[in-house]
Amino acid sequence: MRAEEKLEYLKSLKNLENMTRELRHLSRNLWWTWNPEAQEIFAELSPLTWTSSNHNSVTVLNSLSHQELKARLMEKEFAARVSDVLVEFREYLTRERTWCSAHAAPFLKNPVAYFSAEFALHESLPIYSGGLGVLAGDHAKSASDLGVPFIGISLFYRQGYFQQLIAPHGWQQENYPLLHRTDLPLDPVLKEDGDPLVLSVEISHSQVRFQAWRLNVGSTVIYLLDTELSENEEHYRQLTSRVYGGDMATRIGQEIVMGIGAVRLLRALNIKPAVFHMNEGHSAFLTFELLREQLSENKSLKQAEEWVRDHCVFTTHTPVPAGHDRFTPELMEYILGNYRSTLGFDLQQFLSYGRIHPADPQETFCMTVLALKMSRGANGVSELHGEVSREMWKDLYVHKNSQVTPIGHITNGVHVLGWMTRPTRRFWRVHLGPDWETRLMYPDLWRVISDRELISDEEIWALRYLLRRELIEFVRKRLQEQYQRGGSDGSRVFEKILSPDALTIGFARRFASYKRAPLIFSDLAKAVALFNDPQQPVQLIFSGKAHPRDDRGKEYIQRIVEMTKRNEFFGKVVFLENYDMNVARHLISGADVWLNNPRRPLEASGTSGQKVSVHGGLNLSVLDGWWREGYDGTNGWAIGDDSSLENSEEQDNADADSLYETLTQAVIPLFFDRDEQGIPRAWIEKIRRAMQTLIPQYNTDRMVAEYVTKYYLSKKLVLKM
Ligand SMILES: *Cc1c(COP(=O)(O)O)cnc(C)c1O
Repeated sequence: MRAEEKLEYLKSLKNLENMTRELRHLSRNLWWTWNPEAQEIFAELSPLTWTSSNHNSVTVLNSLSHQELKARLMEKEFAARVSDVLVEFREYLTRERTWCSAHAAPFLKNPVAYFSAEFALHESLPIYSGGLGVLAGDHAKSASDLGVPFIGISLFYRQGYFQQLIAPHGWQQENYPLLHRTDLPLDPVLKEDGDPLVLSVEISHSQVRFQAWRLNVGSTVIYLLDTELSENEEHYRQLTSRVYGGDMATRIGQEIVMGIGAVRLLRALNIKPAVFHMNEGHSAFLTFELLREQLSENKSLKQAEEWVRDHCVFTTHTPVPAGHDRFTPELMEYILGNYRSTLGFDLQQFLSYGRIHPADPQETFCMTVLALKMSRGANGVSELHGEVSREMWKDLYVHKNSQVTPIGHITNGVHVLGWMTRPTRRFWRVHLGPDWETRLMYPDLWRVISDRELISDEEIWALRYLLRRELIEFVRKRLQEQYQRGGSDGSRVFEKILSPDALTIGFARRFASYKRAPLIFSDLAKAVALFNDPQQPVQLIFSGKAHPRDDRGKEYIQRIVEMTKRNEFFGKVVFLENYDMNVARHLISGADVWLNNPRRPLEASGTSGQKVSVHGGLNLSVLDGWWREGYDGTNGWAIGDDSSLENSEEQDNADADSLYETLTQAVIPLFFDRDEQGIPRAWIEKIRRAMQTLIPQYNTDRMVAEYVTKYYLSKKLVLKM
């Protein structure tokens, strides 16, 4: 923004009507979720609503009358802070010089369309289940920060993902509170005449209609498709109501809307993506719709396929064969038979796109195969996962002249600003100088960390205490509520639970069984010893949801909840209900050690461990996913080595032994090795190493820049545009 424009804008804000309008506008753009000053403003407007709505800016503004809001803005100091934030927001949205304009200018003409079954953008919009959604949300935010034109596509799940409650016997219960559209920053997509834009897809013999909601995330736009329309048959109204809800018919129906429907939406809005990026195979039906469009322009099948391949890229996330969506030939024909005829394919030809062996009539239709066959670029989400994926799909490549794209890798990252807590942001603002927020991916920026003159051990240790205390108080408050709801007296909890002086370990993620949450209890005697040394107090905070149909995951939760009640562990091992982005932010900032012990190589990347570095947390993890690349021997700890055993029971035992040994021989002694001021110098040295080596690499600015230069910006594409 030029200086005159800024002055002009500031002047316009003197008018309270303008200022309230602009503040409402801000509340409807999730940019505020990575701006601490904006968050403070919403929190101050109504502290209770802010907390009870899980930090929802729209609900906060809805709770104030126009009169009250105007009156609050009459206070000079508050109004000055509001205008500062509004100016910053305005400047952000009107930037002309961005990473993209400098490094990928050809890309400014047409956007990337990015399809994901879930987007985790903020705790107030629970349309995500776990890591896949977090990755998509962080990708969307960094695309905005880098100035990459970016359109996200997903579904509007009116019942979201479930809220977790733990019953007294430790079994997970699921609640599905309805999301209220008026409490969310969603605007209906309208036609020119002002009526909602309604489009349709054919599912079986029904025309299923859907509308779309527009969500702003900085300069990124995300469209959420929604079949909750009165003109739909009852069961199709529910189609998009839950994240990964329902049976196979629901799944395929959701994927038709998310793939075929989404292309129709983009066309209706006259959006011409340069690239269609499928985040996982859920949206891969979009390639059929693109093929149909091309065929209807009288292209030959070969030309049409080539066009589709030129415009699609695919990211796979699942290193187990069973994790990939597959539909039986019968279901495919029942649901998509009519659509198949519009493509002019017979059944065998249609199914061949999703089959490794096209002529095998028994083979199911696999969405990953479809995506691999119809993309010009494909990638796994870490180096090891790239290897595992190539091995897993190698049968696709054995035919000569195979058109199938080879699988490379781009290692995941996290949106650093979105995962920062306010104290951490303040800390870095003081130490990194101007413009640091736009230079996160450049190692130069983080050099200061190795300089004790610039950042002292004392400052880092003070930050660690502050963040640990904040986490502990958050946990105490949550547990008090958890206990009171269970009918017991919460005050006992509040007094006794957790210590700000103890080495605090965090473990939180989806309770998928390969993540082996209870591994640390494999040998109970060792676990008891670990948590009961008065000289070296250690504590562990768990959180996580099991998928509603995953009884194994629920058993793991029950087992851990049972442990938390035993005298040996009471107040030292705790389980926090209802893991979400807010709980995550507390945990990843307050934990000294982030524990991750998946069964290798099933953690495709993992990202939660990447969130801790900027807060001074250290990783203790199996060498799987990103950590196999991130770990350099000095910046955290490894469980096990760079190999996997065939026998999973043996692997579990070996990993448990390694975990105990590393904790008792390395991690715990280092944390309690203090100088006369009580400061663990060597521990802090490790924090410095972790910050310097991990932050510039494992963030989504670096990741999106890599997607743009390696996958989105193919030479072919540049020439064509
Ligand atoms: C970061 C995050 C995840 C992903 O965690 P992983 O350890 O990568 O599985 C899942 N859920 C939430 C709420 C998160 O914040």
